[in-house]
Amino acid sequence: MRLLVVEDDPDLNRQLVTALQDSGYVVDSAKDGEEGHYLGDTEPYDAVVLDLGLPVIDGVSVLEKWRRAGRKMPVLILTARDRWSDKVAGFDAGADDYVAKPFHMEEVLARVRALLRRSAGHATSELTCGPVSLDTKSARVVVNGMAVKLTSLEFRLLAYLMHHKGKVISRTELVEHLYDQDFDRDSNTVEVFVGRLRKKLGVDVLHTIRGMGYCVAEPDNAA
Ligand code: CA
Repeated sequence: MRLLVVEDDPDLNRQLVTALQDSGYVVDSAKDGEEGHYLGDTEPYDAVVLDLGLPVIDGVSVLEKWRRAGRKMPVLILTARDRWSDKVAGFDAGADDYVAKPFHMEEVLARVRALLRRSAGHATSELTCGPVSLDTKSARVVVNGMAVKLTSLEFRLLAYLMHHKGKVISRTELVEHLYDQDFDRDSNTVEVFVGRLRKKLGVDVLHTIRGMGYCVAEPDNAA
């Protein structure tokens, strides 16, 4: 899952990026509304954390521009405490949720998890596929009751596919959602990671659809 943080306060920006990275997400960040708008307009994020008080272009305007352009990713806005009018303006502009400053980082993380699973149509933090279960909260993967140790990239790969269980995901889409904007993206390496992940899982849930991409599906529904 790839996220964007738009926050002009450098300390807060760094704290948000670090906490989200530690939770297993790939994170890009911007420090003003113009850069934030550009990234959100051109890169495929799974969710965005957007401060409303931003230099150059304010957060509400950024959000309005994205929604007008048809960008549908879930957006969590950061608002000043006691500014109820900010929240209303944010929701009217297309926000999905908000957190008032100052906030506890745990609350931001929980709300981001909720946005990600709701946007993929899941009701709980645990995603399952046949014998495989992946807990997006604890970042644990269990196969047939046994914990499986994955690298952070393998976890991101599996989490993305499990959020979109049953759908064929192209290599290009995977690369776009697994790496940040500065990464040298070679889609051939995805094949290598898929192979390693399949071996670690040891069960038949991760399918290669020739010429199209990859799909996580119940073992019986193998495409
Ligand atoms: Ca601000």
